[in-house]
Amino acid sequence: MNNTKSQELYIEGQKHLVGAVNSPVRAFNSVGGNPLFMERAHGSKIYDVDGNEYIDLVLSYGPMILGHGNNKVVEAVQKQVCTGFTFGASTENEIILAEMVCDAFPGMDKVRFVNSGTEAILSAIRLARAYTNKNHIVKFAGCYHGHTDALLVAAGSGLATLSIPGSAGVPKEAVQNTLIAEYNDIDSVKKHIAECDDIAAVFIEPIAGNMGVVLPSDEFIKELRSITKEAGILLVIDEVMTGFRSKFGGAQDLLGVEADITCLGKVVGGGFPVGAYGARNEIMNMVSPLGAMYQAGTLSGNPVAMATGISTLTELKAQNPYDKFNAQAATIEKALLAAAEENGIDLTVNRFGSMINPFFTSKTVTNFDEAQECDTDLFTKFFWGLIENRIYIPPSQFEAWFLCSVLSDDDINKIVNAINIAMKMAK
Ligand SMILES: *Cc1c(COP(=O)(O)O)cnc(C)c1O
Repeated sequence: MNNTKSQELYIEGQKHLVGAVNSPVRAFNSVGGNPLFMERAHGSKIYDVDGNEYIDLVLSYGPMILGHGNNKVVEAVQKQVCTGFTFGASTENEIILAEMVCDAFPGMDKVRFVNSGTEAILSAIRLARAYTNKNHIVKFAGCYHGHTDALLVAAGSGLATLSIPGSAGVPKEAVQNTLIAEYNDIDSVKKHIAECDDIAAVFIEPIAGNMGVVLPSDEFIKELRSITKEAGILLVIDEVMTGFRSKFGGAQDLLGVEADITCLGKVVGGGFPVGAYGARNEIMNMVSPLGAMYQAGTLSGNPVAMATGISTLTELKAQNPYDKFNAQAATIEKALLAAAEENGIDLTVNRFGSMINPFFTSKTVTNFDEAQECDTDLFTKFFWGLIENRIYIPPSQFEAWFLCSVLSDDDINKIVNAINIAMKMAK
């Protein structure tokens, strides 16, 4: 595989960019080698600067659910670009997207648009504290909620239960009100509730996607909803990854629970920077200018991003690709398990709708500790096997693969073939 140009750009990029990337997940630190530089993408394919074509299962970490360059979305963006980029004033499109989002999430009367998932989450923390007049927040080890100080804990298993900052530059004061619980372990939440009467909110990824894909048990998620409700603690469901991904609406709907505050990002912006947080009126009316909780943004509700969001959601609703996603993901799961077995490799596959993730372990993976037990060396070999066979997946054992709605039968066949070859190479 020729990647001369990617390598040249990687060297050049390191001069004025940190590690030649603008987000560390794009670095290839955990799989070795240099990051690929991409040039263009169309449909289900992405092309690097050396002209290699890949089937894209990264999809910009989720937003490109329709594949790249959907005609209707492109048209909507072009039209808006000619009309104006940003006005610092309200536009009708904000109302239209807000209505689409609130219709899709039963527990949401009002929504506030921001510019990223991180921003949605940090605003939700403030809102939960404002609404409850309490300060502590509970998060689950292995869940990622963006890079805001208070939730940058338990990013690594050694730090998982100690509330030690997961990053340099986060003062311990910033995380001293953060309590860590174990995913799928309701007792770990009950313990915090019993010991602390100052909890504003519990934050959770309804389907975890940032420790690899990890599903909540039905019992766990339902009990989490009922014990938080009983204790007057808000349940903040972080659907930045899962929103509109496994159904038109939220994973919370599929799981049969309703959030007090929902956070969105990724798909809702269709590839432009959009985040959102929403809740019932009683909670959202706390937000400025109606209420005393301040939160603002120069580019929030940006017209181009709203046009992208509206056209993406409109097209997604029309296509309704969710059954197809399930069927295609099932085919990929079957191929992964069969190839692993043929090569004597231990493998567990977790999936939910169009999110799927192989773990190189013989055990089930239901929480962060179990995810951490995977054989990442095997993953690394498998990763490069897929890249060489032109399937682009995230360069980490702990990131979900995503499917897009234009993935064809031919694409699926190619993915299955590449899995067979890559698994043999990993052995
Ligand atoms: C990606 C992600 C975030 C952060 O969103 P950004 O737009 O990267 O700031 C937060 N929560 C979850 C669950 C995510 O997957």
